[in-house]
Amino acid sequence: MSAGADVVVIGGGATGLSTAWWLCREGVAVTVLERGIVGWEASGRNGGGATHPYSPLFREEQRLWPTMDELLGYPTEYRRKRIRIGLSADELAMYEHGARLAEEQGFAVERLDPRALRELVPWVGERVAGGLLYHFGGHANPQRTVQAYAWAIQDLGGVILQHTTVTGIRRSAGKAVAVETDRGSVGCDAVVIAAGPHTGRIAAMIGVDVPLAPARAEMIVTEPLPLIRYGGADGNGLYGRQTLRGNLAYGGGPHEWIEIADSRTPRPVNSPVVRSLARRLAELFPKIAHLRVIRSWAGIVENTPDGRPILDRLQDPSNVVIATLSSVGFGLSPASGHALAELVMRGKCTFADLTWLGLGRFRDLDPDWRRDAGWLPGSGQPAALRA
Ligand SMILES: Cc1cc2nc3c(=O)[nH]c(=O)nc-3n(C[C@H](O)[C@H](O)[C@H](O)COP(=O)(O)OP(=O)(O)OC[C@H]3O[C@@H](n4cnc5c(N)ncnc54)[C@H](O)[C@@H]3O)c2cc1C
Repeated sequence: MSAGADVVVIGGGATGLSTAWWLCREGVAVTVLERGIVGWEASGRNGGGATHPYSPLFREEQRLWPTMDELLGYPTEYRRKRIRIGLSADELAMYEHGARLAEEQGFAVERLDPRALRELVPWVGERVAGGLLYHFGGHANPQRTVQAYAWAIQDLGGVILQHTTVTGIRRSAGKAVAVETDRGSVGCDAVVIAAGPHTGRIAAMIGVDVPLAPARAEMIVTEPLPLIRYGGADGNGLYGRQTLRGNLAYGGGPHEWIEIADSRTPRPVNSPVVRSLARRLAELFPKIAHLRVIRSWAGIVENTPDGRPILDRLQDPSNVVIATLSSVGFGLSPASGHALAELVMRGKCTFADLTWLGLGRFRDLDPDWRRDAGWLPGSGQPAALRA
């Protein structure tokens, strides 16, 4: 294989696919290189949550999701709104923090007493402090969504090469000029590295340090139930949604720190984690505690030292963009792809301030940061994913 593209995107997860799709919409010739199958990693295995009020991309996330089916031309199964359930006053206070952040940005939140909460989520029991109904946010089907991105890219003439592993990036005169793979090389004018937990390994090929700590996360799926009005109801340390078929798909730790070299596909689940998820789901929804778990799986997420994504265009090589979403990349993908496409084409994002997400914030990071944070395998648990 020896080919060329305006832009080569490394990684066929939600971030890389969305970026490629936004670039294709601008008439850019894009090739996506994916070592496996699109969306096979975290992007097809996540909770589907799309509610990130603490992100500078929040407004764009909220603007885009309700329009994505139409823009892509394929269904994502997006459903609006989200309910946070506080089993205790402390838990409710914790969710209040996210609610206030959203309210400050002009989004509405309704406070629900236990009775009002049970009207919306009839599975909730007597032991509950209350809930919050977010009149924003929502959730989508991750597998449908990555498939929709991929089809939409191809409809616009973009190329997706699956089973193609990136092995190197060739540089010349301060620029990346070609991406090398196990099937040959692809010449290019710009490169986007959006390889999830592998972003650090690929950036290292051009001498750039991207600090990431990968972790294994798990999810369970139950038998189906009749649909409730807003299927994105979670709490008790869990995140998740009711699928359109009625199943409850929930995750939420404990997550396990790993070395990225340990990553395997598929990753076996760990029965104590699955039992913990099932127990907490039964505590959250005691009226349906009899439901059986019919499926479970694991996925890998990457974590930056401060938990925030890195979306940045490098100075050297000046035509490379780094994108790693630090565990919150599915819901943000419509907005992150838009921002990344702008970084590629214009060198800056016109609709959000990305200074907060620059790689430069880790310039003085202690090389032992993972050990100091207790983020090495066997040394504690990552924070719950903030879906
Ligand atoms: C269980 C679980 C629940 C989650 N819940 C949520 C949620 O509710 N909401 C939310 O917003 N986020 C959630 N997340 C996080 C979210 O899934 C990720 O942040 C997001 O999918 C990251 O997308 P990505 O495209 O950046 O990375 P990935 O999905 O990891 O994709 C990177 C791609 O790069 C490819 N790649 C790697 N190395 C190479 C190489 N050398 N050559 C070519 N290709 C390569 C990989 O094969 C992979 O397909 C969850 C994650 C998990 C695991």
